[in-house]
Amino acid sequence: MLLHVLGTAAGGGTPQWNCACPGCSGARAHPHRRRRHASLAVQAGEGRWYIVNATPDIGDQIEAEPGLHPGPGLRQTPVAGLVLTDAELDHTLGIARLREADGLEVLATAPVRQALMDRLHLGAVLGPYTSVTWRELPLRGSEPLDGGAAALHISAIPVSGKRPRYAADAPDDDAWVIALRLYDPASGTSAVYAPALAAWPDHLQQAAAEADLVIVDGTFWDDEEPRRTGISSRTATGMGHLPIDGPGGTAELLAPLDARCLYTHLNNTNPLVDPAAPQHKRLARLGIEVAHDGMEIEL
Ligand SMILES: [Zn+2]
Repeated sequence: MLLHVLGTAAGGGTPQWNCACPGCSGARAHPHRRRRHASLAVQAGEGRWYIVNATPDIGDQIEAEPGLHPGPGLRQTPVAGLVLTDAELDHTLGIARLREADGLEVLATAPVRQALMDRLHLGAVLGPYTSVTWRELPLRGSEPLDGGAAALHISAIPVSGKRPRYAADAPDDDAWVIALRLYDPASGTSAVYAPALAAWPDHLQQAAAEADLVIVDGTFWDDEEPRRTGISSRTATGMGHLPIDGPGGTAELLAPLDARCLYTHLNNTNPLVDPAAPQHKRLARLGIEVAHDGMEIEL
């Protein structure tokens, strides 16, 4: 299994265009601290890649990763499709950015697809440009991501009913936000990717306990961070993100796992955006890493 981390930031990125917080200012002054919106490229077969979440940075993310460059045909692309973990704008705005495609396959759960069709009108908007083929993510059992018996298998683990603000009144469903489980029958390895975690359900714990790699939501360091830094009147949990630190935080859930564990989806207020922050040492002592843009992971 081959994975490329295309981005590791929460909504807005680091730096965020209208933000002068220490994290964003630090990234302006030190370009190596910049982080694009959280995204992952998954190799489904030789020269065939799926991109998990279509961020506003998707064009630059494809350019930054040579394995995703087009060729040798004039409009031949190794990008076979998109997989969505939720319907948030930061994970879906990039779909329209790929309108030059001959065709586009998008894997999502039913509520996510519904929100994109009924609220963002993506079907009507993109129809005149390209043909979008929707495929429902399997919530029970797994299926080959891209054909072939030896192909990488994908399944979705429902995580929470957290809807995007633009669909706040849409029907409740626990598949609004999912974690992805990827399984490679050739190597017998599995990975869990969950960039947005409002909860840690039993099914997720089960998949994480069996996995070789777990990459999860590291939006906020602690529950009070959004209020303390002045970006919101809500706590991290109130905003739909389990914090890393503290009781019920994800660090204490990840630490006992056998898997290699990494955080992604860091908000620009998270102290971890500063490589010199002492919080990095605390995670290292627990055996947990922080993912960075451009990281390649082979399992
Ligand atoms: Zn900021």
